[in-house]
Amino acid sequence: MAEEISFHNHGSTCYANALLQCLISCKEFVPEFSKCFMNTNSRLCLELQLLLTGLRDDTRNFLRFFSDKMNVFSQNDIAEFFMIVVSLVNEHNQGTLQCKSDSKYPLSKNTLSQNASYIIQTKKMNELWDKWESQNKGCWNRTFFGQMISQITCMSCKEYNQNNEMFNMISIPIPKMENISKIDIWQCLKLAFEDETIEGWKCDHCKDNKISKKSQRLWSSPEILVIQLKRFDHNRSKNNSPVHMPISFTMNRFLLALDDKFTLISVACHIGSLNSGHYYTIRKTGDQWNMYDDDHIYYLGKKPCIEEISRNGYLFFYKLVHS
Ligand SMILES: [Zn+2]
Repeated sequence: MAEEISFHNHGSTCYANALLQCLISCKEFVPEFSKCFMNTNSRLCLELQLLLTGLRDDTRNFLRFFSDKMNVFSQNDIAEFFMIVVSLVNEHNQGTLQCKSDSKYPLSKNTLSQNASYIIQTKKMNELWDKWESQNKGCWNRTFFGQMISQITCMSCKEYNQNNEMFNMISIPIPKMENISKIDIWQCLKLAFEDETIEGWKCDHCKDNKISKKSQRLWSSPEILVIQLKRFDHNRSKNNSPVHMPISFTMNRFLLALDDKFTLISVACHIGSLNSGHYYTIRKTGDQWNMYDDDHIYYLGKKPCIEEISRNGYLFFYKLVHS
């Protein structure tokens, strides 16, 4: 039974245990997740598959695959580890498999979908996806990757320059507010996607370089949207402000092309400081929420503890609900 899966802590490997629990929550909602691993000869994918299905509770064989990238048996940032795991697992799958999905491209819906410029943009974004996918044949493409558009608009002539990027995690800063009990995801998203005024960018069109505006939007979402709350700053100190993260929400208030709903499936929580902290995961199993803390499993009931998630939540896994 999936809910009985737990992992030993080998010194400081709670970051890996917590991430594995989050990946188990994705596995439940992305059926091709497991199928892919069975088709590959990669030892890494096999190890991961054994861990995700509860056939192995010792993470050491899995972790050794990452030992040239990080010190795996010491404290690590779970968000960084997530990026490394996604990239290495995808690398190990190169050319060996491609998962079939109902739709070839990630979802990009917009209320302006009849608009001509939107149709042109869709064509362009789909071509970019094809180009990227032809070089990245990993089975996690649709699961964890979406497309982002960043745009610089010249304020003199309104011409713009676009940059399109792939993303597999969005990091949102925590705003500084007097009343910290009122901070929620919307204020963080607003801060993350706020338009920026920049000076000194030279416009190709009118050759003016006075003032331009930089904006960033998500074009499409992966099946699993991973959101990191930026609790750690450059000085490695931690922001412990509680941030209210919803169980489900839509993104259309901030993000161009999305009006689909996201629903929370797991949260990796962090307590303590960056150098001396501990990770555990709160995740959904069926209609039940459980807490997974290394070897220990605590049954929480039909609802996760919102206060605890607000206080300690660090890496959030949201599933895209197709409308
Ligand atoms: Zn211009």
